[in-house]
This record gives sequence, C-alpha cells and structure tokens, in this order.
Amino acid sequence: MDGVATEPLLEIVTGHQWAPGGYAWIFPKDGDYAEVGLGVIRTQTDRDARWHLNHFIENAFLKDRFADMRILEIQGGGVPLASPLKKQVADNLILVGDAARHVNPVTGGGIHTALRSGVIAGHFLGDLLKAGRTPTAANLGGYQEIWEAEMGKSMWQLYRHKREIFRNRDLDVRNKLLYGILSRYFSPESEYRKV
Ligand SMILES: Cc1cc2nc3c(=O)[nH]c(=O)nc-3n(C[C@H](O)[C@H](O)[C@H](O)COP(=O)(O)OP(=O)(O)OC[C@H]3O[C@@H](n4cnc5c(N)ncnc54)[C@H](O)[C@@H]3O)c2cc1C
Repeated sequence: MDGVATEPLLEIVTGHQWAPGGYAWIFPKDGDYAEVGLGVIRTQTDRDARWHLNHFIENAFLKDRFADMRILEIQGGGVPLASPLKKQVADNLILVGDAARHVNPVTGGGIHTALRSGVIAGHFLGDLLKAGRTPTAANLGGYQEIWEAEMGKSMWQLYRHKREIFRNRDLDVRNKLLYGILSRYFSPESEYRKV
C-alpha cells in the first residue's frame, strides 16, 4: 500500500479478533509505502485471510492510518506452521526451506531459515563430495545433525511453545500467551534472534 502513515519500526498486532492464530503487521518500506498483511491459522477461523485483512484495515484501532491508502499489489500464500520434518534427507536429496518445514512455527517467518539451511546444506555437500563420498541418505545424515544443532533446537522449542498456547481453549489466555511469545521473540534481547 501507499498512503499509509508509518512508523520507522515493524508494527505487529496480535489478538484473535484480528488474526486468529497469527498476527497482523505493518512493515514500513519507504515514506508512506508499507506492506500491510496478516497471517491466520486456517483451523482457527471459518474465514479466509483476505477477509481478516479487510476487517483489520477497516475496523482496527489504527484504521485511521489507512484512510488514504491505495492498494498497489496483493499477495498471499501458505506457510507450513508445523514442526520441522523429522527426516530431511534421502538418497541424493537434502530438503531445505518450506519443503523441510524450516519455518518459525510462531511467526511464520521462513526466509532467513531457508537461506541459512541452504548455506549449511551447500557447505556440507561441498565437503562430502570433495572427500569422494556419495550423497546417500546415510552420508547426508551429518547435514541434519549440523542443522539440528544450529537451528533445529530453537525451532522445536518454538513449536512446543506454540502447541502449548493453542492447546488452550480460553481465547483471552491464548491472546495473552501469543502476545507474550511474539513480543519476546521480536525484542532486541530475544533468545531467538535470527531464528
Ligand atoms: C504472504 C506471505 C508473507 C510472508 N512473509 C514473510 C516474512 O515477512 N518474513 C519471512 O521470513 N517469511 C515470510 N514468509 C514465508 C517465506 O516466504 C517462506 O518461508 C520462504 O519463501 C520459503 O522459501 P523456500 O525457498 O523454501 O520456498 P519458496 O520461496 O516457496 O520457493 C520455492 C520455489 O520453487 C518453485 N517451484 C515449485 N515447484 C517447482 C517445480 N516443480 N519445479 C521448479 N520450481 C518449482 C516455486 O515457484 C518457488 O519459486 C511469507 C510467506 C507468505 C505466503
């Protein structure tokens, strides 16, 4: 969108009434140009993400900031919010990114994790081939061990937090827990920085 009053920071809005299971965002790009969007968990709502986005833009407490907005482009898609795949290699194959569910299960962010996993996989394969070894599933198992140590541990931890939050049937409690984990996640001192 352009014509949006932005702040020089990432703005994230949680709450089941706006984004069931997820959050809405305003990411400032340049001047009054911003990416405005939201993510929802499909099983937590009967409506689609587009409906929730319109609802947010028209009714949220910051709706005045969208009064002069112009939609320039619309994008949408799905991200796997499950746990990482338990087995990410096979003969001649290493999965990275969404294909391996390398997506932060709380934020839905998967760009950094896909890129970082690709780098780990590339280095591992380079060393394997240079050593004259073949990329069988057994030989590629070492990639997954490195991945688990560098990234998997935190992703599994986030996944467990997410399950605990959504096991809760009380929406107020769930809203508070989701707000808590997201605000901790995006804090500059976050233990999850760069996950
Ligand atoms: C609306 C939306 C907003 C998002 N916002 C963020 C964000 O702000 N920050 C963040 O970190 N993450 C975000 N994500 C998640 C992030 O985009 C993905 O996790 C990330 O792009 C995954 O990278 P990938 O390379 O694994 O997969 P992709 O980016 O999906 O790349 C896969 C590529 O493979 C191609 N392909 C598929 N099938 C074939 C085939 N048979 N042959 C050849 N090519 C094929 C596809 O066309 C695509 O180009 C967002 C996702 C969505 C849907």
